[in-house]
Amino acid sequence: MFCWAAGSASPFLRFSGSPIRGGIDDGRKMYSSPYIRFLSSRQERDWFENALHPALYVIVLIAARWHYLRTKKPAVITSLIRPDDPGVHGDGRGADLRTWELDQQGQKEWEDYLNFNFPYVFSSKKEARTAKVHEVKGEDGVSKGLHLHLQVGPLEPKPKPPESFII
Ligand SMILES: [Zn+2]
Repeated sequence: MFCWAAGSASPFLRFSGSPIRGGIDDGRKMYSSPYIRFLSSRQERDWFENALHPALYVIVLIAARWHYLRTKKPAVITSLIRPDDPGVHGDGRGADLRTWELDQQGQKEWEDYLNFNFPYVFSSKKEARTAKVHEVKGEDGVSKGLHLHLQVGPLEPKPKPPESFII
């Protein structure tokens, strides 16, 4: 829940929920983009807690804008942080977006657009890519359909937000 911080010199909205896990709790709320929605409060919390790699925010927003221009609907983020995941979802470098609104050709164009503009260069894995449409399976092994997986490489620089954004 967001509320005005009483007694604070900062005019920014302050997060009054649980402590930040690895994010930057400087009291500032992330920009609320009209291009995105969240499957549940869990993804919303991850997004607004600044828990993701800064480059992933950029890529997700560009992907969501493409989705909006194509479908006239915001993109739905279905998964961000999965704490027990040994891969990119474990440390804030992975995001999953719903593909329902796009046909197979549209999904391919979405994937190609993102891989063309965001080459997966910060990794030793030559075959890895930034965007990949693939099937998700539940713990029971049953398919939950397709999604667009987005990721940034482990060697991508991670600049820290400054004390003040005003120079
Ligand atoms: Zn994923």
